[in-house]
Amino acid sequence: MNTTAVDEVVGLCQDLLRIDTTNTGDQRTTVGERAAAEYVAERLAEVGVETRLLESAPKRANLVARIPGADPSRGALLVHGHLDVVPADASEWSVPPFEGVIKDGYLWGRGAVDMKDFDAMVLAVVREWRRVGYTPPRDIVLAYTADEEAGMEYGSQWLVRNHPEEFEGCTEAIGEVGGYSYTINDDLRLYLVQTAEKGLDWLRLHAHGRPGHGSFIHDDNAVTALAEAVARVGRHRFPVVLTPTVRTFLEQVSEALHIELDPDEPELAVAKLGPIANLIGATLRNTANPTRLEAGYKDNVIPGKASATVDCRTLPGQADAFLAELREVIGPDVDIEHVHQQPAVETSFDGALVDAMGAALRAEDPGARTVPYLMSGGTDAKAFATLGIRCFGFAPLRLPPDLNFSALFHGIDERVPVEGLKFGVRVLDRLLRNS
Ligand SMILES: [Zn+2]
Repeated sequence: MNTTAVDEVVGLCQDLLRIDTTNTGDQRTTVGERAAAEYVAERLAEVGVETRLLESAPKRANLVARIPGADPSRGALLVHGHLDVVPADASEWSVPPFEGVIKDGYLWGRGAVDMKDFDAMVLAVVREWRRVGYTPPRDIVLAYTADEEAGMEYGSQWLVRNHPEEFEGCTEAIGEVGGYSYTINDDLRLYLVQTAEKGLDWLRLHAHGRPGHGSFIHDDNAVTALAEAVARVGRHRFPVVLTPTVRTFLEQVSEALHIELDPDEPELAVAKLGPIANLIGATLRNTANPTRLEAGYKDNVIPGKASATVDCRTLPGQADAFLAELREVIGPDVDIEHVHQQPAVETSFDGALVDAMGAALRAEDPGARTVPYLMSGGTDAKAFATLGIRCFGFAPLRLPPDLNFSALFHGIDERVPVEGLKFGVRVLDRLLRNS
C-alpha cells in the first residue's frame, strides 16, 4: 500500500525539527537554512518535483518549486513556509529543543508551530499527490524561505526583489499564521484565518541640545529633552480604530461567546477571550513602544545629542494618521528618522479560496467556523503582498481547548499536537484539491 501524507507528516516534521535552523539575526551565527532547504529539495526530488535553491547570501537558502495544475490559464496559488526558527535556550526546556521528541501526544521542538509543522504538511501532501499521480486544479508554487524571523531581507523580501518570475501568475497565497482552532464549546470551534497584518515602523528619535559641563546650570540638555519625549510616547495610548477585519472578527466571536460587543469599548469584549486576548488586544489600535536609548559618553559631560528607538505597529490604512499623532506627542523639537518600514497588509475575507478553507475545515471538523483576523506581528506575507498577491494565514491545526497556542510561538517548550498535524494534512489536502 502507498504511504499517505498522514502517515508521513510526523516523521517529516521530526526531521525538520532536528535540523537546527536558528536565526539569530546575525549572519555569523545563523545556521541550518541551507541544510533544511536541501532536505526539502531531496524529499521533493524523490517524487520527481524539480526545485530551485536560491541563495541570497552564503547558506541563506530559499527553495522554490512549481507544481503544474490542470488549468494553466488560472492564477497560481502560492503555498509558503519559512524554514528558520528563533533561538531556543535548551536549559529552559523540558526536552531538548532540536531532537524532535514525541511525548504526551505532542511533537516538541523549536519550530513545531512556527512553522515546521506547516512546512512538513505541505511536503507530505505534495509527496502523496506525486506518488498517486494527482494533478491539482491550478498551478501551485511552493516557497520555503530563509530569514523570516529576522526581517526577511535574506528570504522573502530578497526573493520578491530578485526572483519575481518565480511567482508569476500567483493570485493568492497561504502560509502562517492562521487556520488554528479556538474552542468555544464542544460543538463550535472558531478557526482564525489571518487576512491582515499590522505594519511595522521602527523609528529613531533624535534630540539635540547644547553640550556642556555636568556641574553647570544647563537648560538645553539633549538627554532631558529625549527622556521627556520618550516618556510621553511610552505612556500614550493611541485610540481604538476598528479595521474591517477586526470588526468582523469581534462581531463573530462575540456572537459565538454570547457576549455583548460595545463598538466604543471593544476591549471589554477582548478581555473575555482568554488565551487569545493578548493576540487580539494589540490589533485594536496603533502602538508605539520605546525599546532602546542611547546618549552620552562620560558621567560629567552633557552630550549634544541623544537618541531612542521606538517600535511602532500600525493598523492597515493608519500609517499617516499614526505618524501625525506621534508627531504631536513627541513635540516639534525631536527629530524622527525612519529606520525600517514594512507597510500593513489587508485582504478581504471572501472569494472561492476562502469558501474552500471553510469547506475543508468543516469536512474534518463539523464544528468548524472560520473567522478572519488581523495579526499584530509580521510574516512573509508582507513581501508576497507587494507582488499583488492576496495573502492568507492558513496553516490548519485543530488544537486542544486548553492549549495556550499563542504562547508557544517563540516560547519555551514549543510543541504541536501529533493529531493536530495529521488533521492539518487532511484539511490542507482538501483545500488544495478544491482551490
Ligand atoms: Zn513564523
